[in-house]
Amino acid sequence: MKRVSAILRDAQPHWVGDGFPVRSVLSHHQHGAAISPFLLLDYAPPFHFPPTDQPRGVERHPHRGFETVTIVYQGGLAHRDSAGHSGVIGPGDVQWMTAASGVLHEEFHEPGYAARGGIFQVAQLWVNLPARFKMSPPGYQTLLAADIPKVELADAGGVVHVIAGAFAGVRGPARTFTPVSVWNMRLRGGAAVTAAVPDGHMAGALIVAGRVRVGSSEVASEAEFVLWDRAGQDASVTALEESTVLFLAGEPIDEPVAARGPFVMNTADEIQQAIRDYQSGKMGQMD
Ligand code: MN
Repeated sequence: MKRVSAILRDAQPHWVGDGFPVRSVLSHHQHGAAISPFLLLDYAPPFHFPPTDQPRGVERHPHRGFETVTIVYQGGLAHRDSAGHSGVIGPGDVQWMTAASGVLHEEFHEPGYAARGGIFQVAQLWVNLPARFKMSPPGYQTLLAADIPKVELADAGGVVHVIAGAFAGVRGPARTFTPVSVWNMRLRGGAAVTAAVPDGHMAGALIVAGRVRVGSSEVASEAEFVLWDRAGQDASVTALEESTVLFLAGEPIDEPVAARGPFVMNTADEIQQAIRDYQSGKMGQMD
């Protein structure tokens, strides 16, 4: 069994645009190779927005060199990018955007949700790409809740939504470039779940709601992140009350990381090239 490496509790709140009151739970700048193949996890805990006919969000901005994965728990989100992809997602749905060689995109509250107002709750994960795929064409996957398999746990312990990777032999719909698992677990109080993770792979869990026990006696609560050691197989979580856990695992990408804002490459020269390409319009145009 993998051992717990750390429980990360000090994520500082900040706003992304005017629509996303997030905490940066994971950041490559802070946590480095320990979280590879992931680069960032921003979590926006439940937050009430009043109704508006001017949806809040983030104006167009570029990305290059990785993927952004947005998981909606409450509210709704609309995405549009310069590669011609667009999508609207709601609770239980996921947007998996492959920026790769570069896109501009906009991320706003979905107009229907914005007009109604109410609770908004999302997580956004950045998944790194290996050097050989960083300049691949951009892509986009809308993964609707209806297309995300649900695995029932034994003894009515809860249900695991398999977004990417395979849980208990059931494979999620996301196409990934390297082995990545993203599982949303809804656990009854007292339920214990053991996640199959290979030796050498990263494993971690965002506690979205509730309270869980990990390792021998450590407890993690809402908005905290459990990071296990790469060494050892499998990671286990026991829910101390009804809990929602976003479980992440993946094969580390052991390559140099050069990151600046929305660009994540392997060298400083590639970052300079990304800035020039963005400024000269080579990452695309939007109306
Ligand atoms: Mn973005």
